[in-house]
Amino acid sequence: MQNANHSPTHSKTGQSKMENKSITRLLIANRGEIACRIMKTAQKLGIHCIAVYSDADQQALHVKLADEAFYIGPSPAKDSYLVAKKLLEIAKVSQADAIHPGYGFLSENAAFADAIEEAGLIWIGPPSDAIRAMGSKSESKSLMEKAGVPLVPGYHGDNQDESHLIAETKKIGFPALIKASAGGGGKGMRVVENEQEIAPAIAASKREGLNSFGDEKLLVEKYITRPRHVEIQVFLDQEGNGVYLFERDCSIQRRHQKVIEEAPAPLFLDSDRKAMGEAAILAAKSIHYVGAGTVEFLFDQGDFYFMEMNTRLQVEHPVTEMITGQDLVEWQLKVAQGEPLPIDQESLAINGHAMEVRVYAEDTDNQFLPTTGVLDFIQLPHIDEHVRLDTGVVEGDQISPYYDPMISKLIVWGKDRSQCLKTLQEALGQYQIVGVKTNLSFLRRLTKIHQFGEGDVSTRFIEEHAERLQTSTSIKKHHILAATAYHLITRAPVHSATDDQRSPWHALQSFQLNQSSSERLRFQLSNNERCTLLVEHIAHDHWNLSIEQTDLNVEPDIQPATVRAHLQCNGAHQELMYEIEGRWSKANVVAHGSKLWVYDDLGESELQHYELIIDTDDGQSGNLVAPMNGTLIQVNVKSGEDVKAGDALMIMEAMKMEHVIKAPYDGQVKGLSFKVGDLVSGGDILIEIEPLIEPAIS
Ligand code: ADP
Repeated sequence: MQNANHSPTHSKTGQSKMENKSITRLLIANRGEIACRIMKTAQKLGIHCIAVYSDADQQALHVKLADEAFYIGPSPAKDSYLVAKKLLEIAKVSQADAIHPGYGFLSENAAFADAIEEAGLIWIGPPSDAIRAMGSKSESKSLMEKAGVPLVPGYHGDNQDESHLIAETKKIGFPALIKASAGGGGKGMRVVENEQEIAPAIAASKREGLNSFGDEKLLVEKYITRPRHVEIQVFLDQEGNGVYLFERDCSIQRRHQKVIEEAPAPLFLDSDRKAMGEAAILAAKSIHYVGAGTVEFLFDQGDFYFMEMNTRLQVEHPVTEMITGQDLVEWQLKVAQGEPLPIDQESLAINGHAMEVRVYAEDTDNQFLPTTGVLDFIQLPHIDEHVRLDTGVVEGDQISPYYDPMISKLIVWGKDRSQCLKTLQEALGQYQIVGVKTNLSFLRRLTKIHQFGEGDVSTRFIEEHAERLQTSTSIKKHHILAATAYHLITRAPVHSATDDQRSPWHALQSFQLNQSSSERLRFQLSNNERCTLLVEHIAHDHWNLSIEQTDLNVEPDIQPATVRAHLQCNGAHQELMYEIEGRWSKANVVAHGSKLWVYDDLGESELQHYELIIDTDDGQSGNLVAPMNGTLIQVNVKSGEDVKAGDALMIMEAMKMEHVIKAPYDGQVKGLSFKVGDLVSGGDILIEIEPLIEPAIS
């Protein structure tokens, strides 16, 4: 069935028709870090690289690195990077002889692959038939079942009646997982724990499947409660020879999306490696696969189950490159030109250990929601042959709401896992990004959890260690005191231990030390929490500080803490040594523009000087505000309607994910400013609710 649209003039292996045609001009139909990554290898091989860019990407790194770049359209991907016709036109105009799709966007679009080959160009990817075969999670499961690859028990048939799906879910038992068959990137999935949750989950997954992938077909699986995600990198040439380049463990995930990947998998037996490697090759061969592919498995105490095959180069391919010493993009280009695989299975070996962390622009304390803004300041980790950074952005770039919020990938190698982890921790300690909230601090905390160090990982890891991964409120308080101390010692030139010209605090003349021995300072945190500090000066590096007034979710602490501080240099870094009530701590401080970032092993805080920013003061508890930019896709209430705490009032879609806006308490809808289809900006008041009973004042 999946071949219905396939032109009969194309062979099953697609590329074999194009054999030994060499690539000299490569169009990269992508952006960001992967476009840069592909260019690196292609340019090394002497290939002329052609980039495309949207409005938002006019100044992007991938455009600067390319030999040539073409404008492709407005910022939203659907008007630019996803428009196959435009890409083909650019390929023609630029006289490209091959197109590399990267990952995401059109990389797994069979019709695009066909169109490229029809235009006489080389498609750097598998044959379109193979993409179609694996494009649907349901159909790929049927194919794998036939090929004898083990599957997660479940239902992946054609009967999509709600009642049938409900019955199949009940048959599987709880917990069960409802998945959009066309889903990807963790989207369109819902775990159901009981019968009542099934119907709403079906509706939501269908909607997400339709909105994000244009297909509402669902499948249902047993939800394995503490599995590991172990995937196998495969590579096949046009002659049908295939090798597996071992596994990657991608168990550390949030929202079913990978955060840390490593190779080889920790605490993993050679016998499992071989069995899964061979199953992956069997899966690939059964669909006449060519090129780079990944077969994803759930691994549960020695058992493994096929989940899906990704018919493209994956985000996490660098860890495989690090342990095998191979360049997978180079392999892709060679195979696409009809060359055989450069190395056979017996000659492939694992050397050492590699880990990759994905650095995202996101708020790890607020459901990992993507963040946007300008990357005001970036300090890169020290890069050498063991530390690699794949990125598509530089200081001053904007993280826009249009694309994936991944900023970069930090990949490190060590001779064994513990050495690798140590190098990763060091590199994370050096890496600083200011201006946009990132997950760097979260990653620092995560990589220090001893269970991670021991390799005791599962897809539940982040959930299970949530408490330790959150920014603790006591850390926030420490950081506020540290930031205040930093401000106090850097603002008065005579006391400045540094000539840090970046510091906005130098420029602030408003608080000259005067005769009075006390003053008030006000700060705002990146999440808009505010606080006022009372400062009593004891000496130029010594104060009594008390958090006098606050809406932080920390206990207001009017008892003054005695704080001392000084700055010291640590290589290129400036560290703040500060003492609170006799206990010395160390923090890194980066000041930029009106922002001040404080971070240490335990967390990261971003502060702004309160007076420097506009005080909107709309913090009425009855207003529900949009957590980020997005589109309203459902409004369930009308003005004047009574609602109960927890009622789903609206659904907004942002970054292709649905966010349910719930009533915080019982009340009546007073103001409803938007309707379905409206674009809203983060911070917009979506709805006002008048509480039925005034919230109790304790
Ligand atoms: P996507 O294509 O959206 O990435 P996958 O099917 O690859 O979706 O699943 C993504 C992640 O969701 C997996 O890595 C795993 O953590 C989790 N997952 C998927 N299926 C199951 C299952 N049956 N049981 C438990 N976890 C699952």
